[in-house]
Amino acid sequence: MDELINKIKYLKNKEIFERIFDFKVEKAKQTFTEKLKENFKEGEEQNIYIFINKILKHETHFNIWRAKRREPKESKDIKTYDPFCNPLEETPVDNIGRLENEYAITASNLAKISSLHSLVIFKKHKKEELNFSDFLNGFDLALKWFELQNSQIKVLIFNYGLRAGASIEHPHFQIISLDEIPYKVKDFYEKIEKYNEEFNSNYLNDLFLVLEELDLARKLNNLNLIINLTPFKDKEIFFFDDKIENCKKEISLILSTYKEFSENFNLFLLESNKGLLGYIVDRGEKEKINSDIGALEIYAFSVVGFNLLEFAKDFILKLEEKELEFQNLT
Ligand SMILES: [Zn+2]
Repeated sequence: MDELINKIKYLKNKEIFERIFDFKVEKAKQTFTEKLKENFKEGEEQNIYIFINKILKHETHFNIWRAKRREPKESKDIKTYDPFCNPLEETPVDNIGRLENEYAITASNLAKISSLHSLVIFKKHKKEELNFSDFLNGFDLALKWFELQNSQIKVLIFNYGLRAGASIEHPHFQIISLDEIPYKVKDFYEKIEKYNEEFNSNYLNDLFLVLEELDLARKLNNLNLIINLTPFKDKEIFFFDDKIENCKKEISLILSTYKEFSENFNLFLLESNKGLLGYIVDRGEKEKINSDIGALEIYAFSVVGFNLLEFAKDFILKLEEKELEFQNLT
């Protein structure tokens, strides 16, 4: 993390960085007992890197020692209820009937969170086997569904794995058509519009500009990909573009890459007349039995234990490898 702090020091666009972010490094000191020293060779001195997004009011505390804790793990093979291997008989049909292609099929969601809430169920049973083509064709079905629903606001979520909130492990996108932007997202737009007015600039462009200089952002054709400096949990990425239709290939590429860095993750996409917002966040290893979210995340700030710059480097490198691979395919 010191490398990142150093990069910030020499930023060309430091003024822009400083109007969005604040940061500090706290040094924590403690004394280990002899018994503790047998188990831990280092850790008496720890650096805590605190980043704050002043515009969005997000705060994240990074401490790599958090990742070194011994957390309860259990190797388990849980069989969840699975109607998705036989969707034609075991899932409900929605108001527009079934949409299907070689890779996926739609179904109505049994327990809805709003009136138009359906699923894109992948034909593959194992989420680990999903690849670029599965995602791309899954997005095609979702887009067709949104079109037939005449959706104003398109929401697509993918809870990849039980730790990410999935109740059925068989992989599926959830697709939701809304008439109004959810308040949490409205709040995001209000904050950035306030920024745009105050600084006579564009928040999203400014954010991309400074994070790109820190090697935390990259363009994928027209899609703007950002490794979040104030992530909610580990390895959070954020991206924006105009609409899903125009970047379904890029998002499929991102998903097939992200799978290699995470055993459980959440994807959230929201498309409205203001554009497309996308988020992916890691939810930890499948064998962990304690939750990754505690009281601080819910009520105060996020605490993470990964090295931001290292993850960004590895992720972008892998993404570029895959980009080349798929360019050769098409
Ligand atoms: Zn299945």
